[in-house]
Amino acid sequence: MSRVALVTGGSRGIGAAISKALKEAGYSVAANYAGNDTAAAAFTEETGIPTYKWSVADYDACAEGIAKVEADLGPVDVLVNNAGITRDAMFHKMTREQWQEVMDTNLTGLFNMTHPVWPGMRNRKFGRVINISSINGQKGQAGQANYSSAKAGDLGFTKSLAQEGARAGITVNAICPGYIGTEMVRAIDEKVLNERIIPQIPVGRLGEPEEIARCVVFLADDNAGFITGSTISANGAQFFV
Ligand code: NDP
Repeated sequence: MSRVALVTGGSRGIGAAISKALKEAGYSVAANYAGNDTAAAAFTEETGIPTYKWSVADYDACAEGIAKVEADLGPVDVLVNNAGITRDAMFHKMTREQWQEVMDTNLTGLFNMTHPVWPGMRNRKFGRVINISSINGQKGQAGQANYSSAKAGDLGFTKSLAQEGARAGITVNAICPGYIGTEMVRAIDEKVLNERIIPQIPVGRLGEPEEIARCVVFLADDNAGFITGSTISANGAQFFV
């Protein structure tokens, strides 16, 4: 029986690359998404990976969604908390809604998704929780006080749960991507991207989603049991932590 992996936001961008890489590595994969049915259907058509729609910001929906995935595929061994959004604004213009939406998805979403799978992982004495944070959670970013706060919170969550899960065979790690060439980043004004962002990346290019996916496959492995509470920075040497 192959291990079961659930990837939130797993039908597009970095999440899609993660879902595919885990499938290629032999996992039985489920990809969650929030609302883009067209992208999800195309993803399933292309990969054969089933998609499940719910918002990670909704606790009850997460519990119900996870129960459905487990009924279809079996208990979740590997949870990849990848779903994330941006609602950028300089702080003096940031609304409470922009703050809250980002917190609900990018930080509380990790609680909502991990809480329902945690007891099963503890009982089975095996689990892998991999959280996709961000370079901006490590260094902060003007215009992203909400996003940077949530992503920094993801790192505290990772380190705390790593300590709680250690004796139960559960590892909890974070990956902090730098700028990766997904829709989220390509939505940035091209001039800003080419003149301000890429010149700050020592390797001179955006990262590829597959480069983050490879980190996930590494951390998910049964033999990666001593790597827990860690943060992998994958950012082209832009910033060292
Ligand atoms: P995309 O915008 O390309 O994809 C986001 C995915 O998350 C989509 O599948 C989307 O679903 C899903 N999603 C959004 N909100 C929710 C929700 N409430 N519940 C469930 N699923 C949701 O993002 P990226 O691939 O660029 O980013 C993936 C992760 O990596 C995010 O956490 C992001 O913060 C992080 N990251 C990205 C970087 C980058 O350079 N791209 C850099 C650093 C970190 P749907 O398709 O239905 O909209």
